[in-house]
Formats: sequence, structure tokens, C-alpha cells
Amino acid sequence: MEEIYCFAGNPLDRADERRRDAGWIASLLDEPSSRLLPMRDLKPSVHNGGAVELEWQPVDPWRAQIEAGATLVLLGLGDGRAYFALDASGADLPPDPATENIDVRTLAPLISPGEAAILAEARSQIDWHARHRFCAQCGTPSVVAAGGWTRHCPSCKAHHFPRVDPVVIMLAVHGERALLGRGRRRPGARFSCLAGYMEPGETLEEAVRREVREESGIRCGRVRYLASQPWPFPSTLMMGFLAEALTEEITVDTEELVEARWFERDEIRDMVARAAAGDPDPATQVPSLPGPVAIAHQICRRWATGNDSV
Ligand SMILES: [Zn+2]
Repeated sequence: MEEIYCFAGNPLDRADERRRDAGWIASLLDEPSSRLLPMRDLKPSVHNGGAVELEWQPVDPWRAQIEAGATLVLLGLGDGRAYFALDASGADLPPDPATENIDVRTLAPLISPGEAAILAEARSQIDWHARHRFCAQCGTPSVVAAGGWTRHCPSCKAHHFPRVDPVVIMLAVHGERALLGRGRRRPGARFSCLAGYMEPGETLEEAVRREVREESGIRCGRVRYLASQPWPFPSTLMMGFLAEALTEEITVDTEELVEARWFERDEIRDMVARAAAGDPDPATQVPSLPGPVAIAHQICRRWATGNDSV
């Protein structure tokens, strides 16, 4: 089996074959066992105090919002019950002092891996609906269908499906050294793998070689897939690779990066250990890596600990 990283390993059955049946969705909403996760401004509701857990609520208190057209998504079935996400951004229920709303990035490492994966699904879906209210083909307001997994245009009859944006993220390796970049938006001396969106009309391997060449001037040969990770900010699929660097001279694309640098395997191993032990002080000038939540951390770990090679 493949390795599973944060936001992967969703335990729910998404019930694709049944969710187009509006009567079935309505019957699930009437089930007392069904649970709903209200999200305000894409932040889920969380219990205050004790262990950090998502605040799954009964459907009933939210019925007025649902009937008023708040976006509702069937996340799936599990443990004999249905789980929904609701966009509660506009709801005027009194705030519950026992709960608070926390952003997904902060919350993910604090909750169980299965809940983090469900949360990724919920955040991406609610965000997609909020930003795709009109038919891309004719401009008519579209409506939620198929339990939140489609938007349907009542005018031109087009169906629109939630989008996933594929991103390649890679560690280019040359012997005992690997290439890391420091992005414009990253604090301090935070380095990471190079990465970029795929473009239409290229393979994964071609996208890896293109991105490394564009950002660092390094040409790559062999490309090896390692693992993927859903990244719900807003709805990306991170696809991780090792790439064999054929050249060594770096020419940085200063639009994207402040610098790119070769690091020895030992250095990267130390950076992985420091990042796994806790987020290094962003003000420090010691080169650092993202924490284990990020697939960049995992790619660096897999290469630096010698378990994976190109
Ligand atoms: Zn239309």
C-alpha cells in the first residue's frame, strides 16, 4: 500500500451511485442519526476544551438554512450514518460558546487523520460552490444537484462538476545532493520542493521537467512518481516526484523564487528532523523545511532517509 499523508485516507463512502437521487438525499436529512458540519467562511466548528474534535451536529437546527438554499453537500456514509457539510457563512444562529470556528490548515494536524481527510473534502466542496454560482457556458445562476457534487444550469442544461487542480511537486536529485527553492511568499529561510500547476497538453513527467527547468534552469531526465495528496486550499491535487537532474548550474526564475540551492543529503535529513520536531522559528536564517502536513516534507524525508531514489 502507498504511504498516506495529511488530508488523504478519507473513510467515507461517497455513495456516487445513489447521490443523484434527491428523494434519497431528503430521506437522509430526515434520519435522526445523520450529522452535519456547519462551516462559516470555510472554517469548521470545533469543540472548545479537551481533545480537538469536529463539531458534528444534528440536521434539525439547520433545517431553516437548508430550506433557504444554503449550500449542502453529502460528504458520504460511514458508521451507519450520513455526513453532510453545510455552508453556514450567512447563518444568524447565536454563536455557541462551547464551540469555535478554526481554519482548516491550523486544525488539520490536531484532529484524527480520517477527520482531516473528511474536512479536506468538505472545504474544497463548499469553496467550489461559493465561487461557481453561475453557469460557465451561458452565465445563468446554476443550482446545486446530486447531493452537492454537481451544479446544473436550468437554462442551457449544462452540468458542471467540482474541479481539482493538479500540481506537480518534485525533488530534483543529483547524486548525493537535491535541489530546494525558497519562494517569494515564504518567511525567513523556509525552503521547499519546486512545484507548479500542470498545463493542458502535457504528461506528468513533462510537467515535472518543465517546472524544474523554468524555476531553476536545471534539466531533468528520469522522473519517478512517489505519492499524491489532496490539498484543500482551495482544491489541489499535489503529485509528488523525484527527478534525476542532468545539469548542475542554477539559473533562478526570480518571479517565482528568491533562491534555489543544492543541499547535501545529510543537510536535508537534518532539516526534515527539525521540521518534524516542530515548526522552526520563521525569523531564523537557518534553512528549514515545511512540517509533516506538507507533501514536500514527505518527499524530502523519503529521499534523505535513503528509502527512495530516482
Ligand atoms: Zn448554462
